[in-house]
Amino acid sequence: MNAGAIKRSEIKRLPKIDLHRHLDGDVKTEILFNLARKDKVHLPAKNSRELAEYFKNIKNTGLANLFREGFGLVTSLMQTPENLAITAYEEVRNLYNDNIIYAEIQFAPQYHTGESVYYKHRNGSQKNSYEEVIKSVWRGLRQGERDFGVKTNIIVDIGREAAPEIGIAVANAAIKCMKYNVVALGLATDEANFPPERHKQAFQLTFNTELKRSVHAGEFGNQLHKNIITSINDLKADRLGHARIVSQHEDLLKKIKENNIGIESCPESNIFTGLIKSRQEIGIKKLLDENVLVSINSDDPAMFGYTLTDTIYKLCKEETWLDIEGVRRLQINAAMSSFLKQDKKKALIKLINKGYNLDGA
Ligand SMILES: [Zn+2]
Repeated sequence: MNAGAIKRSEIKRLPKIDLHRHLDGDVKTEILFNLARKDKVHLPAKNSRELAEYFKNIKNTGLANLFREGFGLVTSLMQTPENLAITAYEEVRNLYNDNIIYAEIQFAPQYHTGESVYYKHRNGSQKNSYEEVIKSVWRGLRQGERDFGVKTNIIVDIGREAAPEIGIAVANAAIKCMKYNVVALGLATDEANFPPERHKQAFQLTFNTELKRSVHAGEFGNQLHKNIITSINDLKADRLGHARIVSQHEDLLKKIKENNIGIESCPESNIFTGLIKSRQEIGIKKLLDENVLVSINSDDPAMFGYTLTDTIYKLCKEETWLDIEGVRRLQINAAMSSFLKQDKKKALIKLINKGYNLDGA
C-alpha cells in the first residue's frame, strides 16, 4: 500500500508510542478553563476556542514569547499538587483517546513550585519541592494508567534558562524519584540562548545512575550542529529531542549511529513553530535508510492543536514514500529507543506488531 492510500483513521487505530511529549504542552483548553474556574484565575479568553486562538497568535510573536505567555499561562494553573495530578491524569486520557499505548511524559519541576516567574504566577504561600512536584505528577499518571490502561514513564526536565545550581537540584530530585517512574533527566526550552554546556554538571550527576538522558538539541537557534555535538559528548545524551538537521550532516549521522542515539523527531511541532517549511527537510527517509533510531513524536499536541495521529498522517501525506510498513518501523524505533527495561521493550514491540497484524518481535 502506498502512502497516499493511508487513511487518518487507519493511523489513529494503530497502536502508537510517544517519547517526546510535554505535560504543560498537552493540557486541553477545556481542562485549563476548569482549573481556572476552580482557582478563580482570569484567562485571556472567554472560551476554549478563543484560548486556542490565543496560543496560535502567540507563536507569531516569537518562540521566546511562546514559552513565556503560552507555556507560562498553562503552568500558572499547574502550581499545586492537586492540579498537577489532574493535568497528569488528563494527559493519560489524551494518550488513550489517540491509541497511544506507551508514552514518556516530560515536564520541568522548576515551573511548578508555586513561585514560578512566568505569566501571572501567584506568589504562592505554598511552595512545592521538586520532589513533591514529581510525585504529584506520578500520582496522576498512575491513576490514569489504572483507569485507561496506558503505561507512562516520566522524564524530568531542566528548563535550560535556569541557573546551573537549579539544574543540579532538579537532577538530584530526578535521581531521588526513580521509584516514581522517573526514567530520565531531560533538557528543554530555549536552546537559542542557553546552550547545553550550561547544565553539564547536572547531567554528570546521572552518569553513575540508572537514569537515562534526553536532550533537546538541534531544534532552534544558530548553533544546532554544535549543540548536538555537545549534548552527545558532554551530556552523554541517550536521545536527542528534535535534532532536525542530522540527515544533512554526515559527521552527525556517523556519531549518532556509533553511539546508538535515538532521535525524537517532532515534525508537526517544527512546522507549527515555523522552524521548517516542509517536513521533508528533516530527512526521515535518509535516517531510516541509515538505520538511525528515529521516531515520530508530538511535542506539544494540545497547545499546538494536533494529535500524534495528525503528526504521522501529515508526514505520510508529504513523504509519499512512507507506507504502513514505514510507519510500523518508526513505531518499532520508538520502542527500541524508549527508556523501558529490555523485557518491557520486547513486550511493547510485540504489541506494536500485533496491531499491524504481524506476529511477535
Ligand atoms: Zn520538546
